Amino acid sequence: MSLFTSTAKWVTEEHQMFAEMANRFMDDELVPNIERWNQNGVVDRDFWNKAGEMGLMAGAIPEDFGGVGGGIGFDAVTLYEQSARGDAGWGFGIQSIVVHYLTAYGSEDQKQKWLPRLASGEMVGALAMTEPGTGSDVQSIRTTAEKDGNSYRLNGSKIFITNGQTADLILVAAKTDKTQGSKGVSLIAVETEGAEGFRRGRNLKKLGMKANDTAELFFEDVKVPMTNLIGPEEGQGFYQMMKQLPWERLTIGIMALGAIDFAIAETVRYTQERKAFGQRVMDFQNTRFKLAECKTKAEVLRSFVNDCVAQLEDGTLDAAKASMVKYWGSEVQNEIMHECLQLFGGYGFMMEYPIARLYADARVQMIYGGTNEIMKELIARSLDT
Ligand SMILES: Cc1cc2nc3c(=O)[nH]c(=O)nc-3n(C[C@H](O)[C@H](O)[C@H](O)COP(=O)(O)OP(=O)(O)OC[C@H]3O[C@@H](n4cnc5c(N)ncnc54)[C@H](O)[C@@H]3O)c2cc1C
Repeated sequence: MSLFTSTAKWVTEEHQMFAEMANRFMDDELVPNIERWNQNGVVDRDFWNKAGEMGLMAGAIPEDFGGVGGGIGFDAVTLYEQSARGDAGWGFGIQSIVVHYLTAYGSEDQKQKWLPRLASGEMVGALAMTEPGTGSDVQSIRTTAEKDGNSYRLNGSKIFITNGQTADLILVAAKTDKTQGSKGVSLIAVETEGAEGFRRGRNLKKLGMKANDTAELFFEDVKVPMTNLIGPEEGQGFYQMMKQLPWERLTIGIMALGAIDFAIAETVRYTQERKAFGQRVMDFQNTRFKLAECKTKAEVLRSFVNDCVAQLEDGTLDAAKASMVKYWGSEVQNEIMHECLQLFGGYGFMMEYPIARLYADARVQMIYGGTNEIMKELIARSLDT
């Protein structure tokens, strides 16, 4: 199983070597822990440091800031190798998104201070946009950042925040101008250590993705230096988010592909072993046809994902296409999990079998990163010009 298609022009020898290294790391350090992390509701903190030591989170970080300056394709490989082991708990996707915000809009000081620590796993990142009262409609957020001398005072609450219990560095979307809609939104980095007035809520109980610590966050008069504003001036947050969302959406397509490859392999293995009516379940024509359909969809998605990675690398991936890979990838993932689980019979409904977890993990892919309805809106907008 590999992220790469044989003809993908963005793939270099370095990517291939990186994938082999990531492959071994995931087998040794991730696979043995997946079940336990799902029970604990959180990934071991030291897994982040181990991944940092291997350079798995540094691929796209510039060399001057503790990375290897290799571009987005390296993060794509890490994400794929994770999800192709059937894991949706480790929040590297969000870490990578935080890195990309800082790389694109951070000041020299911010980059020096945070990027090396995000690369090494010393820091875990989170991105906090969603609030109890608003998710899809980001410009209606109510968290505020008011000026107070050389600081901002943050007030408000966020919900459903991936890495919420673990994060040391949170990019918070807040209104620096309450009279404005999207133009009043700014991104402000909050270092959680010693941040007075900052509080994490409970680790939310979810249908799937149970190994990820998804949390509510509360900000009560949290004092943050004005130098933590992301970008040269206030009011850029909405624009920055719109510019960075293609990568967030593509991460979802990549995670879908990895999970699909894992599910198909598991289902082939199971149906080859399981017998009914004196033959292997794999020998029923229905099984063969269903798996053939799943495999075909996986290959279509692989080509699409590779095309999107190539376009993101050369800066040409637009909002509509990024929305398509998120929408299509997550829909196909859910269809395939449904079909694969069915082929396990009753065992597919049992949590001891990874397919049950994969089925549950898949559902949220149609919701977060912008719901699939919002994706269709964005795609339709590109048609109706
Ligand atoms: C496990 C998990 C992890 C998450 N991680 C993060 C995170 O790290 N950071 C973060 O900021 N957020 C995160 N989210 C939040 C996620 O991005 C939002 O839940 C999502 O954007 C939808 O917002 P909402 O839940 O408020 O739904 P709503 O916006 O209330 O939507 C409800 C329904 O209305 C539909 N709808 C809304 N507007 C329209 C429209 N214009 N046209 C048609 N239909 C529409 C939606 O598609 C949906 O079906 C996470 C969510 C989950 C579940």
